[in-house]
Amino acid sequence: MSTMNTVGRPTAPVPHQPEHDYKHPTLTGGRGLLQDEHLIFESDGWFKTGVDLPEPRGNGSDLGALVRHDPIGLPGLSEPQAMRHYVRLSQKNHAIDLALYPLGSCTMKHNPRLNEKMARLPGFSDIHPLQPISTVQGALELMDQLAHWLKTLTGMPAVAMSPKAGAHGELCGLMAIRAAHEASGEHARRRKVLVPTSAHGTNPATAAFVGYTVVEVAQTADGRVDVADLASKLGDDVAAIMVTNPNTCGLFERDILEISRLTHEAGAYFYCDGANFNAIVGRVRPGDLGVDAMHINLHKTFSTPHGGGGPGSGPVVLSAALAPFAPAPWVVNDGDSFRLVEREEDEAAQAFGRMCAFNGQMGMFVRALSYMMSHGSDGLRQVAEDAVLNANYIKARLSDVMSAAFPDGPCMHEALFDDSWLEGTDITTLDFAKAMIDEGFHPMTMYFPLVVHGAMLIEPTETESKQELDRFITALRALAAAAKAGDVERFKGAPFHAPLRRLDETRAARAPKLRWSAPEGHNMAAE
Ligand SMILES: *Cc1c(COP(=O)(O)O)cnc(C)c1O
Repeated sequence: MSTMNTVGRPTAPVPHQPEHDYKHPTLTGGRGLLQDEHLIFESDGWFKTGVDLPEPRGNGSDLGALVRHDPIGLPGLSEPQAMRHYVRLSQKNHAIDLALYPLGSCTMKHNPRLNEKMARLPGFSDIHPLQPISTVQGALELMDQLAHWLKTLTGMPAVAMSPKAGAHGELCGLMAIRAAHEASGEHARRRKVLVPTSAHGTNPATAAFVGYTVVEVAQTADGRVDVADLASKLGDDVAAIMVTNPNTCGLFERDILEISRLTHEAGAYFYCDGANFNAIVGRVRPGDLGVDAMHINLHKTFSTPHGGGGPGSGPVVLSAALAPFAPAPWVVNDGDSFRLVEREEDEAAQAFGRMCAFNGQMGMFVRALSYMMSHGSDGLRQVAEDAVLNANYIKARLSDVMSAAFPDGPCMHEALFDDSWLEGTDITTLDFAKAMIDEGFHPMTMYFPLVVHGAMLIEPTETESKQELDRFITALRALAAAAKAGDVERFKGAPFHAPLRRLDETRAARAPKLRWSAPEGHNMAAE
């Protein structure tokens, strides 16, 4: 079987050769030119040193009792050895620069190099948060501009810039909500937070962390919040609802206006999980939907690196009702100069505190603003449109061989499948994902959201070309055919080609080995 892609070149038909000897280990443990690599502590460099200095002359050091007598406990490696160690490790990681990274809910889009270039300008990369304010005016202006665009894109009057991830932003939003209820004297009564069953795990975790009782809200058969169930649970004991829109099933909450009306009528606040903002940026302003607080994952929607590639950043936009409780610090534009409001006094008298030591992730602010300015308002709108188009293309082209969880109508930015199409094959979602690794594709998000059995959540983002989407679809269709044809070993044994084969994932999660300890008789004698 061979299909043609848009440039007329036949796409690879995904051959499968069970008799091929890929199951036999190589002599070195390497795979092709990918070298095997052990922990740096397992290298045999213990009796060497990477530097060569003459013995110090004179009366010894001034360190007195602080002089080290024990071995330092680090292997001595030359520069090329150390370099190769880390480069080899880096090759064992998948990266968005290598191939499609279709993790649903994560928005793994290309990180434009322009962003990186801007973030490396010395005026942004070489400054320190304790520098005098007069010497960092440009950095403050950039933060102020980014804040302006975040407020403009969301239609919200205020933004807290310092949270360092989406989950940290949720914490910020709920702490602002708690502060507002404390200020109005209702905190003692309002102890519940309503969260739909499809929510990301961080939502209930955040609510519990802030001291609230989490109450689940049911979902309808078409994957949306059950408004009747929500209405029955809203009351004067509810502090807030936390709703993701578009939700984690990749669907727009059609009743969002009714949801926010009911919430406000009950005196509660509407926290929106904005991790999926990529699907609606430039098209829908959450402020128009009645949202009171929403985090924005700069590392998702605005292309700053995430995963192993960089720290997150989760600014939180706030409604007028919550703005007075925003955490310090924030930037004020005084017309001819910029300053930081840092203390919880005067104009920040009601601030609930602060989220972190300094001002947030400066490098991510630079990258996000660079992304916004290089796209412009029309480009940002197209981001959302193309992200949704790509997801619907995948949904349309796979729905005849895999079972879409919500087959009726289009999806937003991610296509969700369940595992009912694998029924009777003895192959699970996990097995299918492992076989994708052999074909050079990072698996999609699996078993999330929890409301869909054996969920496979695919988010291509707007930055994938049609050729790459076709290559992905061709591979998945061939794998689906192999699964239905009963080629179970191909799935149960996968991955055959990865540096490591099947791992005991439960043990890795429950009993992770985070420290290396020297084996018996190991002499850590490096100088
Ligand atoms: C990614 C994500 C989060 C958490 O964001 P982090 O930056 O990883 O903390 C929360 N909710 C949803 C729906 C997400 O996709």
